[in-house]
Amino acid sequence: MQPNYVTKTIKGSNTIQFSYKPGENPEQMQIDLQSPMQIDSVFFQKRKISFSKRGMNSWLLSLTKNNSRVRISKGLLLTDSVLIYYSGNPRIAKNAPWDGGWIFATDKMGRPWMTVACQGLGASVWYPCKDHQSDEPDKGATIRMIVPDSLVAIANGRLQSITKRKNNESVYEWKVINPINNYNIVPYIGKYVNWKDNYSSITGNNLELSYWVLDYNLEKATPQFNRDTPRMLAAFEYWFGPYPFQEDGYKLVESPHLGMEHQSAIAYGNGFANGYRGRDLSGTGWGKDWDYIIIHESGHEWFANNITTKDIADMWVHEGFTMYSEVLFIEYHYGREGADAYCRGVRTRIRNDRPIIGQYGVNDEGSGDMYNKGAGFLHHLRETINNDSLFRGILKGLNKDFYHQTIDSKDVEAYFIQKTGLPLQPLFDQYLRTNKIPILEYAQTNNKLKLRLTNCNEQLSMPIRIDGKQTQNITITTAWQEFNISEGISIKNISDNFYFTKKEASSSL
Ligand SMILES: [Zn+2]
Repeated sequence: MQPNYVTKTIKGSNTIQFSYKPGENPEQMQIDLQSPMQIDSVFFQKRKISFSKRGMNSWLLSLTKNNSRVRISKGLLLTDSVLIYYSGNPRIAKNAPWDGGWIFATDKMGRPWMTVACQGLGASVWYPCKDHQSDEPDKGATIRMIVPDSLVAIANGRLQSITKRKNNESVYEWKVINPINNYNIVPYIGKYVNWKDNYSSITGNNLELSYWVLDYNLEKATPQFNRDTPRMLAAFEYWFGPYPFQEDGYKLVESPHLGMEHQSAIAYGNGFANGYRGRDLSGTGWGKDWDYIIIHESGHEWFANNITTKDIADMWVHEGFTMYSEVLFIEYHYGREGADAYCRGVRTRIRNDRPIIGQYGVNDEGSGDMYNKGAGFLHHLRETINNDSLFRGILKGLNKDFYHQTIDSKDVEAYFIQKTGLPLQPLFDQYLRTNKIPILEYAQTNNKLKLRLTNCNEQLSMPIRIDGKQTQNITITTAWQEFNISEGISIKNISDNFYFTKKEASSSL
C-alpha cells in the first residue's frame, strides 16, 4: 500500500487467501471496505472478475468457476486467493484512538507522521478485508508499504526487506506469522529511529525487543522503554504464561495518539512519562511509578490478541482482564497491598450505567465499565475462589488452552467453573449481564451475625471469607442466614476486595 500525505489518499492491493471444502466451490465472497474507499479491480485465478457494492461498506465478488482446479482427496481443504486493488480517501480520525481512521499527522519538526487506529470501527475503514473479529487472518499477514525514502515504515511482526525504488521511494516489507486481528494490522510511517534489546522469556527463548521512536525522542524514550518493558514481561509471563507471539518479536512504536494494542507492534503515545498521561487513574498513588500505556497495551497481547472474543459484545474479556493486568503488575513488583488499593481505587470510577456485556450480533460493545468493573469483578472473583495459585493457574491455562483462538465470554466463564468446581454462573451473570451491584445486608448481635444478599438474582450465592483472629469461610445467599461467629470476627473484617455494598439491615429484624 502507498499513502499520499498531500492528498490524504491511499492506494494499494490486498491478497486474501481463503480455504474451502472440496465440492463447495464458492461463487461469491463478501468483502468489507467502508465508503469512501473503493474497490477498483479484483483478480481471481489470474483473471479479472466482476464485483458489486452492497450498501455503504460491503462488496460482493463473483468468483468465476474454473474447471482446471486440481482435484484433491476428500476431507482436505482447498486454498485459493483473491487479489483486490483499492483506493480512496480513508476516513480521518478526529480523536484517535477513541474514534477511528487514518492519522495524517505532522511531527514537531513539520515532517509527515502517519498511522491508523481502527479498533471498533474496523480495519475495512482503510483496506478490503473480512472485517469481523471472529475471522482473523489465521496465517498472519505481510504488509508492504511504499514511502518517501526520507521516512521509515514499520508494521507488525518482523522486517523482511527494504528496497529502494526510483522517485526517492522505498518499499518496506514486514511479516507477522501468527494469527492477527484485522484491526491490529497497522502501518507506522515517520522519521523513526530504532534500538533493540533482548529478554529471556520463561520459554527459554531469547525474545527480541525492538523500539521505534521519532528521532528527536530517542533520549527520553530509551530509559522509559528499557525499564518498563522487561518489568512488564516479568510480571505478565509470571501471571499469564509466555509472551504469546515469540516468533514475531515484541515492539513498541511511538504513535501520534495515546496507544493501542497492535499485536507485536504496540502503539505508544504516553509522552515517556509515568502514569496515564502523568496521572494515576486509581487516585491511590499506586499508579504513578510505571508507564500506563506500556503496561496496559502490552497486557492486551494476552487478552485481546492471544485470546480474542468473536463478538465485541464480549469485549470485557479484552479490557477487564487487561485492566486487571495492571493490578497484577503492581502486585508482582510492589506487593499485594498496592494491588488491592489500586483495584479499589479504579472501582470508584464505575458508573453501572448498563451491563458490561453488550448485545450480540449487532456490533454493540457494552458499557465502558468493562475496564474498571471488569477489573473490580475479577478481583472479587479471585477472592471468591480464595486460592491464588489456582487463580494464577487459570489465567495461565486460559492463555494456553485458548492460545491464538477466538472465543466467547461463555467459554471463559465455563473455564473458571470447570477449573474451580464452584457454581460461579450466577456470579458471572450478576456482574457481567446486569448493572446491579449486590448489597450485603447484615445485622450483628453479640456473637451472631445475620447476613443476606439483596439487589441481585435469586440464585446468587457467594462464598466469602471473614478474617479475624481466625479466618472463617461462609457462603451467603439471598435468604437470611445466622452465623455463629468466633471471637474477634465482625462485618468489618469482610475483605473490601469483594465488590458489593455493605448495609446494616433495618431494626425491624
Ligand atoms: Zn485496553
